[in-house]
Amino acid sequence: MTDKKVPLAAVIGHPIAHSRSPQLHGYWLRRYAIRGHYIPMDVAPDNLENVIRMLPTLGFVGVNVTIPHKEAVLKLADLVTDRARLIGAANTLVFRKDGKIHADNTDGYGFVQNLAQSAPKWDPKAGPALVLGAGGAARAVLASLLDVGVPEILLTNRTRERAEALKADFGDKITIVDWVQAGNAMEGANTVVNTTSLGMIGHPEMRVPLDALAPGMVVSDLVYAPLQTKLLRAATEAGATPVDGLGMLLHQAVPAFERWFGIRPEVDDALRAAVLR
Ligand code: NAP
Repeated sequence: MTDKKVPLAAVIGHPIAHSRSPQLHGYWLRRYAIRGHYIPMDVAPDNLENVIRMLPTLGFVGVNVTIPHKEAVLKLADLVTDRARLIGAANTLVFRKDGKIHADNTDGYGFVQNLAQSAPKWDPKAGPALVLGAGGAARAVLASLLDVGVPEILLTNRTRERAEALKADFGDKITIVDWVQAGNAMEGANTVVNTTSLGMIGHPEMRVPLDALAPGMVVSDLVYAPLQTKLLRAATEAGATPVDGLGMLLHQAVPAFERWFGIRPEVDDALRAAVLR
């Protein structure tokens, strides 16, 4: 028999086997001795709405949402946060007691919190940022960089039209740079962020010239498999501050866990080790 008082949560995607979220939330549930469960759920797009409508009736307090459902869930939500609306995608749903579905996007929050924790001297206002890539993750990164006061963002993407679409949504602080100029655009940047899948296991290596990386820059790679990418190695060699992508994954989970299970969890080395195991 189901005990309705045991809160349940899940990550919904298609496929889902690669997700580290079950290890992450599972670690926190054990650490804070919460009688809850967090499971991976492979849900095909045709089934998404049925599953989302059914889960609250089964004792689920919310779900994380990943590829390919992050955009589609916005239409199923009753309440959408401003940042999820701006990004055009949600990664966290809360099934409220009044029956309403609340959708948020915590990727940008996780990105900035990770920089604040891993590069405590980072001052986002001190100079321009260069962002590589214009996919879903780039939208969250742009929203959060503008939110913390980055004065100018140079945006470069292999497919220029996608960068132009982001500029149309995010405004005048975005300047588009041709992909072939990405290496030159690093010169003078205060913050460099890779939001492309280049360098990720199973994807091509980054070929952008990296010799303009310099001391004082904060260089963040959203790729976390592998943890040490070519970009981060080059940043370390240049005397810049490297920030890996795992921290963003860990920090974006904090607001969700707090809303579902009532405790604001810590991101620390023990969590990193548990997720990497
Ligand atoms: P996406 O929407 O599919 O965007 C992929 C991006 O990579 C696009 O800008 C694409 O350029 C670029 N790209 C792909 N192959 C390329 C190539 N051969 N040469 C140049 N550019 C290429 O994916 P996403 O959701 O934004 O995710 C991007 C990366 O961020 C993934 O590695 C993902 O794992 C990572 N990520 C990490 C976190 C975290 O918590 N650390 C969170 C979200 C995402 P085009 O537009 O030209 O195709």
